[in-house]
Amino acid sequence: MSKGRDLKTELQQALNNKNLQGALGRFADSYLDSRAKAYEGRDFQVFREEIARRKGSASRQMWELAEKFKKNAEARGAKVFIAKTGEEAKEYILDVAVKNKVKLIVKSKSMASEEIHLNPYLEEHGLEVRETDLGEWIIQLAGERPSHMVMPAIHLTRDQVADIFSKEVNERLTNDIPRLVKVARDELRIKFLTAGMGISGANAAIAETGTLVLVTNEGNARLVTSMPPIHVALVGLEKLVESFADVRAVLECLPRSATAQQLTSYVSLITGPTPTALPDGTVVDKELHIVLMDNGRSTMKDDPVFNEALQCIRCASCLNVCPVFERVGGHVYGDVYTGGIGTILTAFFNEFDEAGELQNLCLSCGRCKEVCPGKVDIPKLILELRNRYIAKKGLPAAQKFLFNTVLPNRKLFHSLLK
Ligand code: SF4
Repeated sequence: MSKGRDLKTELQQALNNKNLQGALGRFADSYLDSRAKAYEGRDFQVFREEIARRKGSASRQMWELAEKFKKNAEARGAKVFIAKTGEEAKEYILDVAVKNKVKLIVKSKSMASEEIHLNPYLEEHGLEVRETDLGEWIIQLAGERPSHMVMPAIHLTRDQVADIFSKEVNERLTNDIPRLVKVARDELRIKFLTAGMGISGANAAIAETGTLVLVTNEGNARLVTSMPPIHVALVGLEKLVESFADVRAVLECLPRSATAQQLTSYVSLITGPTPTALPDGTVVDKELHIVLMDNGRSTMKDDPVFNEALQCIRCASCLNVCPVFERVGGHVYGDVYTGGIGTILTAFFNEFDEAGELQNLCLSCGRCKEVCPGKVDIPKLILELRNRYIAKKGLPAAQKFLFNTVLPNRKLFHSLLK
């Protein structure tokens, strides 16, 4: 466990947190029915076979696809940087901001940016960074980190959100959702208009054309990627695919599995930079920078067991059905990726030892495996993580005593049973 953390205490606090229990319980109660309705008339098993096959094939060709994407995106005017580590990605993005005298950055939702703690890094260097996805903005204002990959503020009730917004606008607001959304809109619009840079992620990166695919609901990603004169897309190498055919099944499953929608409000395709119109009417050439980030993904690709995790499309369906997540939420996982798949991603993208302890939270119930559109066998991978952690760290003292001393000694074993 990372230094200074007491997992047992955090679990107990989460179990005693009535707001958290209420917020998570309400969602879990309705999720499976809504998901089933969204998949009506579609064959989930066929889609997941296709995703596993196509994503599996893409991950095996990760570096070839990265080079192909770079060549084709640059032919369309983008600048592509391949970052081996999170540090390299952060330094590149900061460098672009400094060279262009950027003061304000607007961001749309990007788990890759959370993974490398991009916001605090840019803020430490004097930049203002504003999240514009509603859930991300809420947790930014609350000074927290996301507790869920798709719904980052799922752990908060609407009353808590009203309190957070009230502080921000210095006005007592009720929990009336349309009013809260209007507050967000009013506060964020001016930021879109004045930002010097927009940072987004991407749900897929198509190598044959150098195209980014963004699947969103709020429209903020379109503003982030189109209004500021510079757009930086931070994209994990696992998002690379060969062709448009490779994203068809992902587009079918991602909204259905993530939010039980047949289609999200926006699916954006970005191929090269397009000119930007400034508020005063002048039109300037846009810069598009695409950072393809490794940060542990190629190590995962080369691992004969864990390469399966690269088939994940980040729908968070596995969190939505996890009985542990439903009771304790995401913050107990201690990092940005939560739940079973989060534990596996944390082991490769952040810290193996931290993930090694978190695997204890998995009950091996197998519900996640049944709903995963990427056919990722999460319980199998968690078990492998457990084995590797024990091989590295050894068993905890009590278990070591049991296996090494008690079980081989029949007399001692039977005397302890009495
Ligand atoms: S492991 Fe499967 S269910 Fe979980 S986020 Fe990834 S694709 Fe979705």
